[in-house]
Amino acid sequence: MVSGISAHICNFCIDQAYQILGEEEKNKKPVKNLKFKLKKPKELTEYLNEYVIGQYDAKKVLNVAVYNHYKRLSQPSSDKDEIRIEKSNIIMVGDTGTGKTYLAKTLARILEVPFCIADATVLTEAGYVGEDVESILTRLLQAADYNVEAAERGIVYIDEIDKIARKSDNPSITRDVSGEGVQQALLKLLEGTVVNVPPQGGRKHPDQKMIAVNTENILFICGGAFDGIGRHIANRLNTQPLGFSKRTETNQIDRANLLQYVTAQDLKSFGLIPELIGRLPVVTHLDPLDATALKSILTEPKNALTKQYKKLMEMENVKLIFEESGIDYIVEKAIEYNLGARGLRSICEAIITDAMYELPSDENIKELVIDKKYAQEQFEKSKFKKLQVA
Ligand code: ADP
Repeated sequence: MVSGISAHICNFCIDQAYQILGEEEKNKKPVKNLKFKLKKPKELTEYLNEYVIGQYDAKKVLNVAVYNHYKRLSQPSSDKDEIRIEKSNIIMVGDTGTGKTYLAKTLARILEVPFCIADATVLTEAGYVGEDVESILTRLLQAADYNVEAAERGIVYIDEIDKIARKSDNPSITRDVSGEGVQQALLKLLEGTVVNVPPQGGRKHPDQKMIAVNTENILFICGGAFDGIGRHIANRLNTQPLGFSKRTETNQIDRANLLQYVTAQDLKSFGLIPELIGRLPVVTHLDPLDATALKSILTEPKNALTKQYKKLMEMENVKLIFEESGIDYIVEKAIEYNLGARGLRSICEAIITDAMYELPSDENIKELVIDKKYAQEQFEKSKFKKLQVA
């Protein structure tokens, strides 16, 4: 027994208390290092190329923005010349399944700043059922292990931004709480303000402890499919200004890929409010995926689907061979069903599931060749066949 002024403690208790303190110390999360290595845009592109096929315009724009973001973060606050580098948030326009989210996710892996992906569809104007815009920052805080200083230099990707477009041209009929209302709420966030964020997400309530986050240095990247924006782009490209100016370039418009001409004006016609567009000054696009691109996606990236299936089969000691004709068949079906890159996986599953079911119980089979004949047979049997061609 060790005696104090008004109490005693035994040696076992001292031991135990010592251990508890040790554990606590161990569990403390290390504060994230705010130093990072500056990665040049070309280095970033090289890394992205290993995973994401094509989309060079989007890669270029994204990487320059991320690089500038790094540079801005490393600008000493004591810089005398008073030139403060401002962030330039980005908006990406591209059909569904062309790799917007994938690009953002892959980028997130190389970045040493906190990064999170948020979905605009769940957001509603404050006070309505749904999530408030602040919930986006909750995710960023979580990505930064609740280190506010790190989160304040992070990057946020907001997916499905087109889903909060104004629902009609006449804003005054009913309150548009999940469309224009959210756009209004996002304005401050994108521009830079101090936001009170509920640390665990969910709805705000008066007794909740809030964390103040300054969004001035957070880079926002938005992405959306903007279904039907092609019509607005075509309209704009066709409107000839009055007069005699020579407009030769209209003859060379690539009608198959109108998205490449997308500008802020088209986003406005689509239903984004000008104030929001003004805060997303960099507009870029993703190209639709043609057969060649789909084929590359299937075979080339580091974790290409065919490589994944080969690996799975390897674990069963079975050699899986994709013949060119089999791959062409898969691509052909993906295009026919209008499913983009996302459809490749479901078509592969439809073709290989039977084999994956049988092979583990049959040790005599050492090789499986997927050629057009095999692919077609399996595909025709699958439930896909029952789907209407889109
Ligand atoms: P969205 O543009 O709708 O956000 P995603 O990024 O979710 O599309 O793409 C769906 C899937 O398709 C990705 O998980 C990825 O595997 C594949 N994919 C799409 N585009 C590409 C691409 N350019 N290169 C490689 N894989 C791609």
